[in-house]
Amino acid sequence: MEKLLSVVVSVYNEEAVLAQFYEETKRVLDEIPWDYELLFVNDGSHDGSLRILEDLAGQDEHVKLVSFSRNFGHESAMIAGIDYSSGQGIICMDADLQHPPACIPKIVERLEAGFQVINMVRTRNESAGWFKNLASSAFYKVINILSDVKFESNASDFFGISRHVADVLKYNYREKVRFLRGYVQNVGFKKTTIQYEAGIRAAGESKYSIRKLFQFSVNTIVCFSNLPLKLGIYAGAMAALLGLLVMVYTLFTRGGAPSGYATIVVLICFMFAILFVLVGIIGEYIAILFTELKDRPIYIVEETKNIK
Ligand code: UDP
Ligand code: MG
Repeated sequence: MEKLLSVVVSVYNEEAVLAQFYEETKRVLDEIPWDYELLFVNDGSHDGSLRILEDLAGQDEHVKLVSFSRNFGHESAMIAGIDYSSGQGIICMDADLQHPPACIPKIVERLEAGFQVINMVRTRNESAGWFKNLASSAFYKVINILSDVKFESNASDFFGISRHVADVLKYNYREKVRFLRGYVQNVGFKKTTIQYEAGIRAAGESKYSIRKLFQFSVNTIVCFSNLPLKLGIYAGAMAALLGLLVMVYTLFTRGGAPSGYATIVVLICFMFAILFVLVGIIGEYIAILFTELKDRPIYIVEETKNIK
């Protein structure tokens, strides 16, 4: 029996590129030795994207559509695509053609060869700009120091996985605060990487602002490392040591001790600063704990097309 490839594409206000994306991707998919489904997840677009996708699903039975009730974010869209996919191999990619469809046959080859996780590593990312690139490499440095699990620094949301891995993600990685790329790299299995050059966005604008990316980075660090929580212990030990030194100093200079107004003010400010930062860190963990505890859905589907 012919194998089925599921190509999962998240779409948020991409009316400007969808037609081009569909054409280019279809051309490549028609050539591969597997049957395929092109599964679009409409993440609450408020432009013409949904109409375009509905039309495509009407004309072409390979095109499947899952449409959310509102915008839930890229992470939610990707896992929804994986949840609804039925292929023996699954590829996640963006709709803006930054993830070249021309790489799909190479991923299928690796799947055929028995690899279960195929990480697509970008060799350069021209469109991101120097600040995003710098911030991205800083983020990976920090997380690789703090976390037990290791992250490939140029990994992207472009990857191929086997049905087995998809099922693990579908049934066992149901966190609400999500980082799919991190899970994919850390589920184990037979892995390989393929390099690709990230193109520039074919049309439309990037949906990720710097602020969103920063919050995303903080959340990911909190979700993958408990180390920041333990900073309080080190800070406490250091404060105790400092207290001890000052005490010894005071005892030995009894009578002649200086009035020390400036020292006291500086010390109080410094200590409170550390304390508040630590409280803030605990706050980040509690916020995530609270989100997970509420157990709200990762996404809500409003409509599907061509999905059995
Ligand atoms: N996307 C999404 N939901 C969102 C934001 C983005 O599904 O809330 C999709 C978007 O349509 C695109 C992919 O995620 O297919 C990557 O987004 P974008 O190209 O804006 O990010 P960048 O490449 O700039 O990091
Ligand atoms: Mg993009």
